[in-house]
Amino acid sequence: MSSDTNANKKDLPSYRVSKLRHGTVIDHLDAGAGLQALALLRIPKNTVCAVGMNFESGKHGRKDIIKIEGMELSPQEINKIVLFGPHATLSIIRDYELVEKINVEVPDRIVGVVTCPNPSCITNHEPVTTRFDVMSAEPMRVRCHYCERAMSRDELVV
Ligand code: ZN
Repeated sequence: MSSDTNANKKDLPSYRVSKLRHGTVIDHLDAGAGLQALALLRIPKNTVCAVGMNFESGKHGRKDIIKIEGMELSPQEINKIVLFGPHATLSIIRDYELVEKINVEVPDRIVGVVTCPNPSCITNHEPVTTRFDVMSAEPMRVRCHYCERAMSRDELVV
């Protein structure tokens, strides 16, 4: 969408890190959540990337941004990020040009991405894939499918 692209350009502060040649920009993450989001992506250690935190954003107050050089994240990978920004966008850059922009969608269920903090939860003792039902997106609250503990995003183990 062209209007979306324009809004994105306007949002980016002038002190932002240099433009990507090839790679992925994750924008509109919740302010302060960028480092956790980056940890969740588990990108290779030698990847060139930058995390911008608490940038001003017209839409939602403040936001974090992640730029990853040389990697194109899939929509599946970006959907992990939804925990850290229900309004996050994923932009794929090739030769300095925006080729694709994806808005994340808050799913009903988050499967196999994060770990339940409840020590007695079966997922911490048996080889069971974690599964959380999303109760609300803002603020992000989920409930463990197995032990039924309800929790905020910050209680989840990345
Ligand atoms: Zn649990």
